[in-house]
Amino acid sequence: MKTLDEIQRAHGELTALRRDIHAHPELAFQETRTANLVAERLRALGLEVHTGLGKTGVVGVLRAGSGKKSVGLRADMDALPMPEHNRFEHKSTIPGRMHGCGHDGHTAILLGAAQYLAAHPDFDGTVNFIFQPAEEGGNAGARAMMEDGLFERFPCDAIFGLHNMPGMPVNQFGFRAGPTMASSNRWDIVIKGLGGHAAQPHAAVDPIVIAAEMVQALQTVVSRSRNPLDPAVLSITQIHAGDAYNVIPGEAVLRGTVRTYTVEALDKIEADMRRIATTLPQVYGGSGELDFVRAYPPLVNWEKETAFAIQVAEEAFGRENINPQVPQFMGAEDFSFFLEKVPGCYLFLGNGDGDHRLQSYHGMGPCQLHNPNYDFNDALLPVGASYWVKLVQAFLPKA
Ligand SMILES: [Zn+2]
Ligand SMILES: [Zn+2]
Repeated sequence: MKTLDEIQRAHGELTALRRDIHAHPELAFQETRTANLVAERLRALGLEVHTGLGKTGVVGVLRAGSGKKSVGLRADMDALPMPEHNRFEHKSTIPGRMHGCGHDGHTAILLGAAQYLAAHPDFDGTVNFIFQPAEEGGNAGARAMMEDGLFERFPCDAIFGLHNMPGMPVNQFGFRAGPTMASSNRWDIVIKGLGGHAAQPHAAVDPIVIAAEMVQALQTVVSRSRNPLDPAVLSITQIHAGDAYNVIPGEAVLRGTVRTYTVEALDKIEADMRRIATTLPQVYGGSGELDFVRAYPPLVNWEKETAFAIQVAEEAFGRENINPQVPQFMGAEDFSFFLEKVPGCYLFLGNGDGDHRLQSYHGMGPCQLHNPNYDFNDALLPVGASYWVKLVQAFLPKA
């Protein structure tokens, strides 16, 4: 396991920086303090800095030599709308907001890499340091940056991003080529019947009975009409209808989520759901409509760039610290928008099992992502920053 000496020496400084960001969490598209901090640091390092991409996004550009190749490295900056239960000194100072996903750490890691590469520009080409807003909650900060011309203004031959992974040992890297994280989609089905007196069902069209049958019919979408080799989830998470004991309501609403690893599976599921939502109510004299919203596409890592990212990690940290095929993960991640346009790889860095909180934490809770007791493990800072440096040196080698 080899971190770069100079980055190792900056561990204390990077830890302080990470904890400062942790204590000041900001929600999607409101990351002004964090973005200012990032932009100021990058300017102080002598990088060309661009702000306001996707509202609060920041890009730092570092060039060396005369090479035309370029690489993008991405960190997300946003926190979550949740309370923090930790009681250590760097806990959130803002009620109801928490860096519960470690984006504070991802930001500090990328700043650590920028600091090293600015001092040692031993590469040939352009590095685009991409600090992205609004990864959480379907806000798609990645797409917002692209809509502001991210890849036209800052062309990238490849792009890489990382996420800490609780439960995976510290200093371990996880990779997977191909579909790795799921698409995230939400949907509403509105069933229209005919309201009436509960004692006179013959004069009404009961949307509740149709809704009950709809719940069953929707089960067949994944169990019977999806390719069993292509994983998918369809969950119905809300049913709403009626306000009284003696009234048949006029309308029932079903809502839920769909997750898939491929666009093909998603297209098929949406079409099947639309057919059921529209035609099933008609059987009973009602009508139905599906509103299907595709939030994040599936995250599909590119083969060649994943092989490259694995090779960099193997050479720098040893084969024993690499898992080249982590399991697929049904969570979603908007780095997938970048990977639809630019080759690249999204990788995972072990965050350990939470022991790092013992020194300052009085009483333990689980250290899982989006848990109120989560905390990013500062031991990863020099590991992640050193990895980004090695990746840049390998991707943009000096002639
Ligand atoms: Zn998250
Ligand atoms: Zn996250």
